[in-house]
Amino acid sequence: MSNVELRLSGGLAILSVDNPPVNALSTPTLLRLMDLIKDAYKNPAIEGVILIGSGKTFITGADLQEFGQPMRYPRRRSLYELVDAAPKLFVVAMHGHALGGGLELALAAHYRVALEDTRLGLPEVNVGMIPGAGGTQRLPRIVGPKAALEILTSGKPIPADEALALGILDELIVGNSFDALLRGAIEFTRGALARGAPLQRVRDSNERLRGVDPAMFVEFATAQARKWAGLVAPQAIVECVEAACTRSWDEGYEIEGRHANQLRESPQRAALTYVFLAERTAAKLRAAGSTATLPVASVAVIGAGTMGSGIAMAFANGGFQVQQVETSAAALERGRSLMEKNYETSVSRGSMSGSDAQQALARIRGTLRYDTIAECDLVIEAAFEDLCVKQAIFAELDRVMRPGALLATNTSTLDIEKLAAVTRRPESVVGMHFFSPANVMKLLEIVHTPRTSQQALVTALGVAKAIGKIPVLARNSDGFIGNRILAAYSRQADFLLEEGATPWQIDGALQRFGLPMGIYLMRDMSGLDIAWSVRKYREGTRDKSLRYSPVADRICELGRFGQKTGAGYYKYAAIGARQAVPDPLIEQLIERTANELGIERRAISDTEILERVLLAIVKEGARVVGEHVAERASDIDVTYVNGYGFPRYRGGPMFWAETEGLAAIADKVETLHERHGQYWEPAALLLRAAQLGSWKAAESP
Ligand code: NAD
Repeated sequence: MSNVELRLSGGLAILSVDNPPVNALSTPTLLRLMDLIKDAYKNPAIEGVILIGSGKTFITGADLQEFGQPMRYPRRRSLYELVDAAPKLFVVAMHGHALGGGLELALAAHYRVALEDTRLGLPEVNVGMIPGAGGTQRLPRIVGPKAALEILTSGKPIPADEALALGILDELIVGNSFDALLRGAIEFTRGALARGAPLQRVRDSNERLRGVDPAMFVEFATAQARKWAGLVAPQAIVECVEAACTRSWDEGYEIEGRHANQLRESPQRAALTYVFLAERTAAKLRAAGSTATLPVASVAVIGAGTMGSGIAMAFANGGFQVQQVETSAAALERGRSLMEKNYETSVSRGSMSGSDAQQALARIRGTLRYDTIAECDLVIEAAFEDLCVKQAIFAELDRVMRPGALLATNTSTLDIEKLAAVTRRPESVVGMHFFSPANVMKLLEIVHTPRTSQQALVTALGVAKAIGKIPVLARNSDGFIGNRILAAYSRQADFLLEEGATPWQIDGALQRFGLPMGIYLMRDMSGLDIAWSVRKYREGTRDKSLRYSPVADRICELGRFGQKTGAGYYKYAAIGARQAVPDPLIEQLIERTANELGIERRAISDTEILERVLLAIVKEGARVVGEHVAERASDIDVTYVNGYGFPRYRGGPMFWAETEGLAAIADKVETLHERHGQYWEPAALLLRAAQLGSWKAAESP
C-alpha cells in the first residue's frame, strides 16, 4: 500500500507522506519516498520538488518500534543523500512536529519552510542516540556549532520563529492548516525558481564553521558535566560537531556514522528507549476503552505550604488558573512569598524567563473561602498530614464543589478510602501524589481506591500530562509504589550500617552507580524528625519479630535532625549548610549499637552494598506488582527514574534485574532469604518471572 503520493502542480512535484499517526519514517515509507523522488528527478516537466507531511504533522522521526533492527542508517543516509544531491530545487514544508529523522531529512534539502506553530527538534539524545544520517554535520553548517550543540545535546524542540532566526527555516508560512502550508510552500518555491535561487547544498556551506575556537567544545562539555554524568550520547554529539568544524565533510560524516552505529548497539540506548516507551505505557489506563476525560480548566489547591505552593506553581506553569485556599491571610502570604522565591530561583537558573514567571504567578490567586472554588473542575488537597484535618476538608469539598468535579488528595501515607468515605461521591476521589519540589519533579502517582471511577482516573492521567508530569497508576495502599519500595531498601541500608558499612560508604556506592544522592545525604537534606515521629507513633503496632535497626532513632535522640540542625548522619559546618562531612561520632554510635545487638561488624564491599540495595528494590517491586499496587514492572521503573533519581540510562531497577537475568536475581533473593529471613521472602511474581525470563510474561494473566 502506497503511503507516499506524488502529485504534479504546474512544474512542481508535491510529495506527501501519509503514515499516520505521526508520519514516522518506517522502512516501507522510506523506500517508496526514494522511488518517487527519483521519478521526480527524471521527469523533465518537473522544475522543483516540495516534500510535505499529510494530516496533522510533518515526519516526526524514525519508527521507534523499529529500533534494534540493523541496517537502518545506510537506508536513511541514502534517502538524505538523494535529497542533498537534488538536481532540481528541493523544498521541505513542515507543520505540527518535525522531529528526529524528519528534521534531519529537511536539513538535507535546499530550502525549508514551516507554519508558525511548528516545533522542530532532534530528540535522539533522549533515547541515547544521535542523529546518525548527517544531522550532526548539517545542523552546525546552518546554525553554527554553539547553537547546534545546544539543540543536539538538549534534545528539546524549538518553536518555528526561533528556527527562522537561527536559519533552519527560510520562511514562516502564515496560517494554521495543511492547505495554508501547501499554498505557502508552492508560492515560496515558485518565487525561488523565478528569481533563480541557487541549489545550495548544506554540506558545502562552511562559512559558519570557520574560526571556531576548539576550546569551546571542551568548555561546553565541562559546563554540562553534572547533567551528563554517566551518559555517552551527549559526548558523542560534541565529538561529531567538533569534527564538522575541523574536518572535511566526508570525514565528519564518517565519524558521525561510527558513533551512531556504536550507540545503536549500546546498553544505554536500549535502556533509554525502554524508559521512553515505559513512560508512554504508564500514562495509559489498561482498560480505559472509550472512557472520555472530563474537561479540566480551573484548579483549586487546598493549603499553601511546601506542597500546596509547588502544586499551584505546577498548574500555573501549565497555563491553568489556580485558586489556593488557606486558613488565614498570614498562611496565604507565606505561601505567596514561597512561590515568589521559587520563581526567582527558576529565573536565575535560566529554566524560565522573567515574563513567563510573572504570568504564571499572576494565574494563582489566594482565598480563605471554599465557596469561591465551587465551580472549579479539580481540587487538590495538600493540607497537614492528619486524617481528621483531611476528612473535615473532604466533607467541606463534598458540600461546595459542583457535581462531577474531581477531588484529589496529595497525601503520602493516609488511607484515601477514608477520605472518600466522608463524601457522597467516592467515585470522584483520587490521590494525586506529587513529589517535592512539586513544580520540578516529574513523577506523579495517581492513586485509586476500589470506588474511584474510570473517568476520574482517565481525567487525572490527562491532567498530569497537561502539566508535563509523568503519571503512574497506584492502588491505594501503604506507601503506594515509590515510598513503599524506598522503605524496603532503606531498611537494608540501615542493616548494612550495623553489619559494618558507614553512611558515607553506602552513599558513595549508590552515587557511583549513578544515583544523584545517597540515602543518608537525602535523609539529612529532607530532615530526620518527621520519620522519627512516625516511627514513634507506629511503635506500638510494629511487628517485633522482625529485625529493626535503632540507629536512626539514636541519631534523632541526640537532636541531630540533618542539615537543618547542622548534624545528622553527617556533620555540617553550620545549620543549613549543605557540605556534608563524615562524622566519627556516628561511626562510634553505629558500632555501639551493633555491639548491643550482638552483631559482629565486618568489612562490607561496595558490590555487596549495591547488590543488597538493588535486590531489595527488585524484590519489593515484584511484590508491589504481584499485589496489583502497580500495574506492571515497567511502572516501577518509571517511578524510580522520575521520582527517586535512579539513573535513566540504566532503565530502572526492574529493567536492570531483567538484564542481569531474572533467574540469577531470584537465586540471590532466595539466598538472602535463607540468611536474613522474612524481609527477603521472594514474591510469587519474581519466581514466575525467573522461570519465564521476563516480567512481561509473568504479568500476563
Ligand atoms: P506544610 O505543613 O508545609 O503545609 C500544609 C499547609 O496546609 C499549611 O500552610 C496549613 O496552613 C495548610 N492547612 C492546614 N489545614 C488547612 C485547611 N483546613 N484548609 C486549608 N489549608 C490548610 O505541609 P506539606 O509538606 O506541604 O505537606 C502537605 C501534604 O502533602 C501532606 O499531606 C503531605 O503528606 C503531602 N506530601 C508532602 C511531601 C513533602 O515532601 N513535603 C511530598 C508528598 C506529599
